[in-house]
Amino acid sequence: MRILIADDDATSRLMLEAIATKLGHECLAATDGSAAWSVLSTSGVDVLLTDWMMPGVDGPELCRRVRHELSDRYVYVVLLTTLGNHDQVLEGMGAGADDYLIKPVDPFSVRTRLVAAKRVTALHRELVDVQSKLERATAVATERALTDALTGLSNRRRMEEDLVNMHARAQRLVASYGVALFDIDHFKAYNDHYGHLSGDEILRRVAHRFVNDVRAGERIYRYGGEEFLLLMDDCDQEGAAIAAQRLRVAIAELEIPHLSRPDTPPWITLSGGVACWDPATAGSVGELLEQADRALFEAKSGGRNCIRSANETVSIR
Ligand code: GH3
Ligand code: MG
Ligand code: MG
Repeated sequence: MRILIADDDATSRLMLEAIATKLGHECLAATDGSAAWSVLSTSGVDVLLTDWMMPGVDGPELCRRVRHELSDRYVYVVLLTTLGNHDQVLEGMGAGADDYLIKPVDPFSVRTRLVAAKRVTALHRELVDVQSKLERATAVATERALTDALTGLSNRRRMEEDLVNMHARAQRLVASYGVALFDIDHFKAYNDHYGHLSGDEILRRVAHRFVNDVRAGERIYRYGGEEFLLLMDDCDQEGAAIAAQRLRVAIAELEIPHLSRPDTPPWITLSGGVACWDPATAGSVGELLEQADRALFEAKSGGRNCIRSANETVSIR
């Protein structure tokens, strides 16, 4: 272990150093509390053997700093005190010391304290290790819970969280935002003709293309089934419709064969419905999604492979 001996009395310091070194430990020394604190905050000390009275920062204050400011590791603290000074011992242990030694110290007492120190610091290291593994596992599980397993896109749960945040942000900043709801055209016919596994592959390819094509300020989610949602920061109806159109064209340009659909073109296409929230309309997130859904319905009835906007004046084929 790495042991710091903080004592302004040279004889006591040298004696402790000799004992600890003989027991095979690495020793650092400080002649006052301030020097001890600077070693403690930089040198990864395992054990602090500290005198009570020292110039600058005294023993109890050093204990308090160790406990409050060195939260990343456990320093086992042993307070050096004079025989019979029970009040000092209690105050020091209240300030954060783990144990005490009566001066002049004898090698056996130092040795027993260091056995305990080794066990406690090792336990603490294990605890920190388990804690960080737990934190990593929790982060992975959280990420998994917000990701769609088939496509790797953010899922509906994350979409709902992001929509609530986006809505609050837009209200706070008096800004606008938009959503586009996409639905693959005649996907049931695709599954029926090519099989469900090929259908899954289409969902992955479409998702992959979306991920490649979304721009800064845009986020894409699997809304459910063969439906996807694009969320757009700070955009008006026209900007939102243009962004949706860009993605619709990107998917159509893949020209993935879909020969069993009853209409043209003979490849995979999307229909999309766009809606925007702005401070003047001031509806709810639910109402915005309903508007986008109605616009999507219009796109389906209007012949598919197109984008319709909730605002009738904006409509792009
Ligand atoms: P429309 O153009 O009107 O949207 O017609 P559609 O056939 O795409 O719509 P419909 O709602 O009738 O069918 C959706 C199909 O999407 C049916 C369902 O089996 C399929 N689907 C939903 N989720 C998945 C999935 O995870 N994998 C596969 N392969 N198919 C899925
Ligand atoms: Mg659908
Ligand atoms: Mg569909």
